[in-house]
Amino acid sequence: MFMSQCAKLTKLTITTKFQQYFVESSRLLLSFLTNRFVLLPQLSLPLQCNNMERKIIHIDMDAFFASVEQRDNPELRGKPIAIGADVERGVVATASYEARPFGVHSAMSMRIAKRRCPELIVVPGRYHVYKEVSRQMHDIFHEYTDIIEPISLDEAFLDVTHNKPGIGLAVDIAREIKAKIKDRLHLTASAGVSYNKFLAKIASDQRKPDGLCTIHPSRAQEFIDALRIEKFWLVGPKTAQTMHRMGIFTGADLREVSLKHLTDVFGKMGPVFYNFARGIDDRPVVVDHERKSMGCEHTFEHDLYKRGAVLIELNNTVNELVRRLEKHDFEGHTLTLKVKFHDFRQITRSITLDNVLRTRDDILPLAKQLLAQVDYRDHPIRLLGLSVTKSINKETSTTVNQWIELEIPFTEWQETPGE
Ligand SMILES: [Mg+2]
Repeated sequence: MFMSQCAKLTKLTITTKFQQYFVESSRLLLSFLTNRFVLLPQLSLPLQCNNMERKIIHIDMDAFFASVEQRDNPELRGKPIAIGADVERGVVATASYEARPFGVHSAMSMRIAKRRCPELIVVPGRYHVYKEVSRQMHDIFHEYTDIIEPISLDEAFLDVTHNKPGIGLAVDIAREIKAKIKDRLHLTASAGVSYNKFLAKIASDQRKPDGLCTIHPSRAQEFIDALRIEKFWLVGPKTAQTMHRMGIFTGADLREVSLKHLTDVFGKMGPVFYNFARGIDDRPVVVDHERKSMGCEHTFEHDLYKRGAVLIELNNTVNELVRRLEKHDFEGHTLTLKVKFHDFRQITRSITLDNVLRTRDDILPLAKQLLAQVDYRDHPIRLLGLSVTKSINKETSTTVNQWIELEIPFTEWQETPGE
């Protein structure tokens, strides 16, 4: 995509190719002098296409499910509440701001949440209501632009570069949208404004709840340099740990690492992190982006071979998957289990049903059934993953390409960024 955009700017490209070559040559020389990086030419660096002309807003509702419940039931206002099923293996979908000081957060097991906050009121989710509120939010967005990319029920990117009312400053649009959400829906949202999705997303998280933050192009680099690596989009706890081991704690640290080194360590995410550190993210806001699958996976600290331990982890993975399906209002017909063994050999097993898969009761028995087809007695398991796919192809095993690393340590759930 970088290249196709650049192709249109032939003259500019020639200039920037020169600059790029100069920058890269200088960098290689510097690398040589400091003996800090591996010396390999990287002449295809995507340095030249940082489009700072766009105006992107990221809207993220504050404690969405919990706020809707408190809005609709005055008795819940000002109290610590958690949305989710109050059962032994239930998981917190959203915690109200009153519950958060107790250490209660989304993706945590309900059992632990109640232990941390004995006053906690557990409220079952009303997903049809959340879906309707989400639709009302989108009605407000459409007053400004039709270029809207929903990320989940309560989160979306808006490209307001050319907006319907012709408002010059994106921050003014963000302010209006927040005001309308408050007036019409009696809920609060946080908004982030910048020239790309990466920065807009980070900005919306800066002053939650009811926050509004703009990252202007002129101070983007300074902002990113100071940003803790854990705050970077797509950096989960596991990636953060790896970065810490590499001596990367801030955006500035990340910017010092070569593209080659990042790619060696993080594979296809290497160039993404390399660009993020430079404030570059040219992905467009995609309208009607239809998600084909949703999954999560977890790499264990120690390889597992005991049946009990594997079943516990399978159960945890099912819980996390169900939480994600709810948050994104996603359902499908195919469940795929992915297993990676200690020797990095990987297999997948799939099953497709006529009825939709979205609840724990739908998914857990199938997941166990798929696991029963895997012989791991002599091959300890390094990673377990589960995904639900829209595919209705019953003949073949599906190839799943949207795995999301479970952002949890071994023993307990952690908050998913952006909720
Ligand atoms: Mg939210």
